Amino acid sequence: MSNIDALYDKVVIKNPGEREFHQSVKEVLDSLIPAMDRHPEFKKFKILERIVEPERQFMFRVPWMDDNGEIHVNRGFRVQFNSAIGPYKGGLRFHPSVYLGIIKFLGFEQVFKNSLTGLPMGGGKGGSDFDPKGKSDNEVMRFCQSFMQELYRHIGPDTDVPAGDIGVGGREIGYLYGQYRKIRNEFTGVLTGKGLEWGGSLIRPEATGYGCTYFTQEMLKARGTDFKDKIITVSGSGNVAQYTVEKVNQLGGKCVTLSDSAGTIYDPDGITGEKFDFFIELKQVRRGRIKEYAEKFNVDYYPNKRPWEVKCDIAMPSATQNEINASDAQKLVDNGCIAVGEGANMPSTLEAIDIFLEAGVSFGPAKAANAGGVATSGLEMSQNSLRLAWTREEVDQRLHAIMVNIFQASRDAAEKYGSSGNLVVGANVAGFLKVARAMMAQGVL
Ligand code: NDP
Repeated sequence: MSNIDALYDKVVIKNPGEREFHQSVKEVLDSLIPAMDRHPEFKKFKILERIVEPERQFMFRVPWMDDNGEIHVNRGFRVQFNSAIGPYKGGLRFHPSVYLGIIKFLGFEQVFKNSLTGLPMGGGKGGSDFDPKGKSDNEVMRFCQSFMQELYRHIGPDTDVPAGDIGVGGREIGYLYGQYRKIRNEFTGVLTGKGLEWGGSLIRPEATGYGCTYFTQEMLKARGTDFKDKIITVSGSGNVAQYTVEKVNQLGGKCVTLSDSAGTIYDPDGITGEKFDFFIELKQVRRGRIKEYAEKFNVDYYPNKRPWEVKCDIAMPSATQNEINASDAQKLVDNGCIAVGEGANMPSTLEAIDIFLEAGVSFGPAKAANAGGVATSGLEMSQNSLRLAWTREEVDQRLHAIMVNIFQASRDAAEKYGSSGNLVVGANVAGFLKVARAMMAQGVL
């Protein structure tokens, strides 16, 4: 048994039941084999053994009162995975499926993703099994205040800077920030994704979707093509999906699907113009379900289905982990899909990734393709430190340049380490090397 297999087995035994964490560790470890062979010093300093163990993790009680005076108790999490290259940075997820295994997979991925951005950010992630869906604004506020009542002691602008993720958007960041400011009596850049009037950055809401589209554009360019007249299937209908559709529309592609946890809409004419505006208002203002889009514009709605049966040139999964399994991947390949840009975190299973790579699909793994969100959070932190606000154009240009760099660094690392064209290997190796060197330089900690 190789050292890597033995380490993976140890991770599974030491972290029982944390299926998603095991999956992300497996993907990373397998793709680091060529890098470890070339760097015996990393073996000697047990970099891999250290990197799979979070530096610190917290779980805490979050009690809150609903509008009827009834008390509920949720569980809060923050995993501070690795701070070798900067303060911990990573989002908060509020979703009923959240447990330690999900937060750890997201935190582990974040270590490499943040390194890839070229900005000085370590990796962390947090969240709760609280479900904001169907709750009133006041209930969400009371929950966020209770959550921050504990979280505040573990975070800070030079320590750990959380942001949004599933279920945590501008509204939740506002309530969390207000509570932090009140407790600490400090106005600092302790969270990103803030409102523009109180320290936020232009383009932060758009950044993950725009960034994933820029990354996918680079993959298409490498194949000698672009978005023009391509058919794109998008899953999800939240933050990432919304701005993916907007940017793809600008680049001349046609997005034909959107989804939520209840089903998928299929609009063969494209989600554009008045229909796009309706979609944004539906999700951002009314917080409605995607089914209403199908009812309003009389297009197909597939209850309990994901979009992967719809014929497309490019797939941009933007909902959640493991939403593309092997049979979905095979369907996409059989239907002629040439590129997959992962907007969500770990949306493809390991088997699905193998099918894409085998078939020669240009595959942009999440930690590279969706790094635009955290990169722009890094830009928000810079602006907060400078006490300045950059223009929309300036932030967008920086985001674009970062995404092009991430593509090139991943492509070059894949080539250098003997897996030409495999951006999974490339992104993992490029992200890992910087963190590993920093850990070596800073001693055994
Ligand atoms: P939102 O909460 O804004 O939207 C999530 C969307 O995905 C909703 O349409 C939701 O449907 C759907 N969804 C969530 N869970 C499930 C599920 N279990 N099954 C089916 N559909 C589901 O989240 P974001 O758009 O911010 O995040 C989407 C993905 O992108 C996540 O994987 C996240 O980690 C990743 N990401 C986000 C970043 C950001 O900046 N926001 C940065 C990098 C990655 P429903 O409303 O029915 O729950």
